[in-house]
Parts: sequence; C-alpha cells; structure tokens
Amino acid sequence: MLALVITVECIACWACEPICPNGAIRVKNEIFRIDKNSCTRCEGHAELPQCVEICPVEGAIIDAEGRAMNPPGTLTGLPA
Ligand code: SF4
Ligand code: SF4
Repeated sequence: MLALVITVECIACWACEPICPNGAIRVKNEIFRIDKNSCTRCEGHAELPQCVEICPVEGAIIDAEGRAMNPPGTLTGLPA
C-alpha cells in the first residue's frame, strides 16, 4: 500500500496531524508531510484514510499516482 502525499495546496490547518494513527504526519516550519515509511493508509485502524476524511482542502492530499484523494468539487460542491 503506497503512502499518501501532502501537496502545496495544504493550508497548514493542523487537522490531520493529531488523528493519524501512525504518527506519520510530520510538520516542520508549517510544512506538512507524510512519512512514506509510516503511512499505511490507515489500514487496520479505519476504513478510510483519516487525514483525507478530515482535510478541508481539495487536492491537498494525493495518492502515489498523483490523484487527489478529495478531488475538485467533492468538498465544496462546486463544479471543478
Ligand atoms: S492515510 Fe492514515 S496513516 Fe497515512 S498519513 Fe493519513 S492518517 Fe496517517
Ligand atoms: S488537514 Fe489538509 S490542509 Fe490541514 S494540515 Fe492536513 S493536509 Fe494540510
């Protein structure tokens, strides 16, 4: 299972950091990153990736292939 990735769209809201069951979200100088060796996509902890569930920004978290986990329009309800 490939780790998720936080993009430059991240607004550093801190919502995801405390809920990661693996402590995989690292913050340095308000730049949020996911440690690819620690992220399990929440397997064994939750059905869906918890960071994705709570992230308020479309496109801020992507998969290894670069696909937005919350694609445009999914959170705002506005057409992409
Ligand atoms: S998918 Fe789960 S394990 Fe991976 S960074 Fe997000 S909350 Fe942590
Ligand atoms: S929840 Fe989303 S926007 Fe907030 S810090 Fe995490 S990745 Fe960034």
